[in-house]
Amino acid sequence: MSCHKLTVPPPKIVDREFVKPLLCGPGPSDVWPSVAQALTKPILSPICDELFKASDDIRAGLQYVFQTRSNLVLALSGSGHTGMETIISNLVGPGETLLIASRGIWDQRAFIMANRYGIKTETVTIPMDMTFTPAQLEPALKKYRPTALFITHGDSSTGTVQNLEGLGDLCHKYGTLLLVDTVVSLVAVPFFMDEWGVDAVYTSTQKAFSGPAGISPVAFSARAEQKIKTRKHDPPFYFDIKLLAQQWNCYGNTRAYHHTISPPLFWALRCCLQEISKETLPATWARHAASTAYFHKRLRENTFGFLIPKPEDRLATVTTVVLPKGYDYLEFVKYMRAKHNILIFAGLGPTAGKALRVGIMGVNSTIKVVDAVVDAMVDTLVALKKSSL
Ligand code: PMP
Repeated sequence: MSCHKLTVPPPKIVDREFVKPLLCGPGPSDVWPSVAQALTKPILSPICDELFKASDDIRAGLQYVFQTRSNLVLALSGSGHTGMETIISNLVGPGETLLIASRGIWDQRAFIMANRYGIKTETVTIPMDMTFTPAQLEPALKKYRPTALFITHGDSSTGTVQNLEGLGDLCHKYGTLLLVDTVVSLVAVPFFMDEWGVDAVYTSTQKAFSGPAGISPVAFSARAEQKIKTRKHDPPFYFDIKLLAQQWNCYGNTRAYHHTISPPLFWALRCCLQEISKETLPATWARHAASTAYFHKRLRENTFGFLIPKPEDRLATVTTVVLPKGYDYLEFVKYMRAKHNILIFAGLGPTAGKALRVGIMGVNSTIKVVDAVVDAMVDTLVALKKSSL
C-alpha cells in the first residue's frame, strides 16, 4: 500500500439523462439502427482473425465508396482531421509547396497544418459562396509547380460542392498531386477517385455514412504511392501510411501491429459500408439529391433564402440557409433545440452570422425528416418574430 495521501477526491460522476435530438447540423448525423447495434459487439484484439477478415471487408467497401482499384486504402483512427493531417504529412515534405484552394474553413485548417510541418504554402482564394473553375487554379499550378493541391469537395462551412472533373489531369500536367477532402460529401454526392485522377482522399464516418466519428477512411493513388516510396521525409509515426498499410494488409500477408484500433468503431464502419453497399451508390446519391431538392423547395415556399447563389454549387448534404432580415442566427438555433429538440448549427468561419447550416444526410436524408425540420423552422420564424424584429 502506498503511504501517499490522495489529494484529489473521487468526483461524483452522476448519470445524465437526455432525450436524443434529431441531428440535422453539418454533422454528426444520426446513425443507422444496425450501426448502433454494431457498436455493442464484443471487444477484440486488433491482432486476431475476426478483425483481420473484417478489415478486408472494410477495404473492399472503401474501394467501392471511393471508386478506386488502388490497394492503398484503409481507415485511420481519428476523426476527419486525421485524414487531412495524414495525406498532407505523407505526401508533402518540409520545404516543398502545398497549393491550397481556399473558400472555407477546412482549407484554412490545411494551411495551418502544412505550416506546422514546415511545408511552404501558397493559396488561391475565391469568395466563400463560389466554387473554383480550372482557369482560376491553373496560373498558380503553373507558377509554383507545387507538390500537391489541396481542395475541399463538399464544404460544410459554406454549403458548396466543388466540381472536380478535369482537375486531376490539370494537376498532373504540372507534376502536382491532387488531394481532396470528402468528409461531408462522400456517398451523398457522386465521387470517382480513379476516373477523376484524385491522388489522395479522406472522408469521415459521422456525416453521410451515418456512423460515429473516430475512424476515417483514406485512399492513395499509384502516383501518391510512388511519392510515399521515394520521399525523403518521415511523417509523424501515428500517421505514417507505410506502417499503417502493413497493419491493414494493403499489399497482402502483412498484419503488423501499429496501434490498437477501436473495435466498436471498426465494426461500426464495416456496418456503414454494408448498408451503403446494399443500397448502392447510385441509389444513395439519388436519395440525397431528391430529399435535398424537396428541402430547398420547402425552404423557398417559406421565405427562407440561400447563401449560395448558384443552385449547381449547393451541396446536397449541408445547406446554408439565410433567415429574413432581423433574425439572430444563434437564437434561432437555440430555439430549434429547446422547442423542437432538433440540432442545427449557425454559420462557421466565413459564414458566421450569415447563415444557418442544416444537414440532411445519411439516414436523415428522407422526406419525413425534411418535413420535420422545415415545420420546426417555420414555427421558429413565427415564435421569434416579436422578440427579434
Ligand atoms: N472537412 C470537412 C468538410 C468537415 O465538414 C469537417 C468536420 N465538420 C472536417 C473536415 C473535420 O472533421 P472532424 O471534425 O471529424 O475532425
